[in-house]
Amino acid sequence: MGWSQHRRHPTRSRKFNSLRMNPGLDRGLVQQAIEAGVELRFGQRYPSDKICVVSSGPRAADVIAVGYLFRTKMPDGAWICFNRELAPLGYSYLLVHCGRDTVASCMFADFERKNHHLERTLEFFRERVGLRMEEPRKFGGYGNYYLPGAAVQRGSLVLGERAGFQDPLAGFGIRYALRSAILAARSLLDGADYNSLWHRDLLDLLRTGLANRFLVNLTRDRGWRWILSRRLAGQDVGQAMRKLYRPTTLTRALYPVAHLLPRLSKSKSRAAARVPVSG
Ligand SMILES: Cc1cc2nc3c(=O)[nH]c(=O)nc-3n(C[C@H](O)[C@H](O)[C@H](O)COP(=O)(O)OP(=O)(O)OC[C@H]3O[C@@H](n4cnc5c(N)ncnc54)[C@H](O)[C@@H]3O)c2cc1C
Repeated sequence: MGWSQHRRHPTRSRKFNSLRMNPGLDRGLVQQAIEAGVELRFGQRYPSDKICVVSSGPRAADVIAVGYLFRTKMPDGAWICFNRELAPLGYSYLLVHCGRDTVASCMFADFERKNHHLERTLEFFRERVGLRMEEPRKFGGYGNYYLPGAAVQRGSLVLGERAGFQDPLAGFGIRYALRSAILAARSLLDGADYNSLWHRDLLDLLRTGLANRFLVNLTRDRGWRWILSRRLAGQDVGQAMRKLYRPTTLTRALYPVAHLLPRLSKSKSRAAARVPVSG
């Protein structure tokens, strides 16, 4: 298999860290909540007549990720690849960091062939950067993005992906989840209107993400390659990404089209991926 025609685009970054999707983040937040005096109760239904906060995650799959957590003796590094055979409309990545390592295909279409795309991803990184996995453990998950009309539903404040708060370009939602939780807390403590708060804080970013996704779906691999070669190559990744998410005249003009034509900003294989994809 010849990957040699693929160009390499080195980037630089002082602060580009990987965040492993394991219980570490959740546990850390739980610990902080307990220290702040929060009482946690598991396995109990909250009374439905009280105002509550709903943060139960994605309802359906617009993006899925499948991959492996593993150990390796490879030197630290972060690699990303844009290719429809590896990750349709998405990206494949390899993160090696102090022996806590991840390789995955993050795809926005063709979920039915997820195992094929993962296999191609492994082949690619084996051939190009000498990927060697020890003790591999398979993982998978899915994400859901849409623009909610309102994130107050039947009196409850809806947060994170349950409300559709998710970046449609890359499938990143942790910051949205944390941000919307802070806004909900402010609303409950100060009586501020939650819908007004998230409109002011998150709406521009969500719209830009949707316009970016629409552009990538239209231009496919060429769009990703343009982003890689013109926006990321040789740049500080953090700064370049911030620019990519800044609203521009183009994204403002495209957003209404993307919103009106969801078929062009969503995968056609949503229905096939309503179940968790691990295993
Ligand atoms: C493989 C993978 C890699 C990712 N990588 C990144 C990344 O690098 N950066 C990033 O920003 N985002 C990433 N994301 C996306 C990110 O994980 C999500 O956007 C984010 O976790 C959403 O947070 P949330 O709190 O809204 O939902 P979730 O994190 O999904 O949490 C919802 C929780 O609610 C629980 N729940 C569901 N129903 C109920 C119920 N009825 N009662 C009680 N509890 C319930 C679920 O079990 C779950 O624990 C990734 C996603 C996946 C799948």
